[in-house]
Amino acid sequence: MKIFVSSDMEGTCGITAWCETEKGQDLYEHFRKQMSRECAAACEGALSAGAEDILVKDAHDSARNIDPSLLPEQARIFRGWGRHPFCMMAGLDDTFGGVMFTGYHSAAEMDTNPLSHTMDTQNNYVKLNDELCPELMINSLIASYCGVPVYLLTGDKGLCDWMNAHCPGTTTVAVNEGRGAGSISIHPDKAVRLIRESAGKCFAADREKCIFPMPKSFKCEISYKEHFKAESASWYPGCVKTGARTVRFESKDYMDVLKFMHWVL
Ligand SMILES: [Zn+2]
Repeated sequence: MKIFVSSDMEGTCGITAWCETEKGQDLYEHFRKQMSRECAAACEGALSAGAEDILVKDAHDSARNIDPSLLPEQARIFRGWGRHPFCMMAGLDDTFGGVMFTGYHSAAEMDTNPLSHTMDTQNNYVKLNDELCPELMINSLIASYCGVPVYLLTGDKGLCDWMNAHCPGTTTVAVNEGRGAGSISIHPDKAVRLIRESAGKCFAADREKCIFPMPKSFKCEISYKEHFKAESASWYPGCVKTGARTVRFESKDYMDVLKFMHWVL
């Protein structure tokens, strides 16, 4: 089985402040290593459960954070941005048997991670069909678009709770719990161990229960922090400006939504 792993950083064990996510800043090297170890643990668990080929997408900021030497030999890594609408999922297609997410975080306007955001920090929220939309939702729907189940999520507790409610077959590992501008986390070695163990067991779940539910049609709404971003986005074909800071885009085809986000988020 071929497995795709998308790894972000703002749900890495212990992470609490933006400076910890940025190259050259305070504690970045520590959290870059922890992000790499958590991704490697997911890969190792998957290999122990029969995965034969793994593609890792480094999906944070520059997309050049993970130390590839910490990954198992069977893993290939997609570094940098492909400029494809799949974005954090670039490289995924219908030849993969499963998706795993590590280091994922709560959405913009969710109070369950001090680093909550959706795609960038220029919006107040992104909603899909009237619901706050984490990057996890965007990317789980990409998996469904390719017909691929989501077997594992690791990240903050708020996001794990969200996933348990939306896609109950997916195994979740909560490593942090947001508390205002701070967070409480488990020990980084324990996070690595739990992720490895969970990745080794997650494929036993009912495959159909791990396919994220795909809506029949999509209404995407974005509220920007700056009003002029809404003005700019409103020039995307089919996009409607609904307020000083808000825009809406509707389609029955999820790829249209991804193209919209590619240009306006
Ligand atoms: Zn990130």
